[in-house]
Amino acid sequence: MNIEEALKEPKKLTLEDKLFTVKYNAAKETHIKVDNEICKKCTTNRICLTICPAKVYELEEGHTEVHVSFENCLECGTCRVACTDNAIDWRCPQGGMGVCYRFG
Ligand code: SF4
Repeated sequence: MNIEEALKEPKKLTLEDKLFTVKYNAAKETHIKVDNEICKKCTTNRICLTICPAKVYELEEGHTEVHVSFENCLECGTCRVACTDNAIDWRCPQGGMGVCYRFG
């Protein structure tokens, strides 16, 4: 790398770039449970589908139940706060499991 390249503004990372730096140690059992009965009467306009940075929650077309890809969870806790209907039961993953941030 020459001096001109070194002095350039650092590349702005996308969310996908940043997620690529995260390592996961997936547990066998989920640490996120969704109460689909509460979900059916959602008053938050399904905020979990848009607020999760890791896209853990998905609703497949034609389905009414939210699919949870708990293995991708960043353990930020946003969904616990955002779901004011309390449909999400979120616990810390089993010891030694879950997300591992390589760069702090
Ligand atoms: Fe998504 Fe954060 Fe909730 Fe994990 S804790 S499911 S990353 S919003």
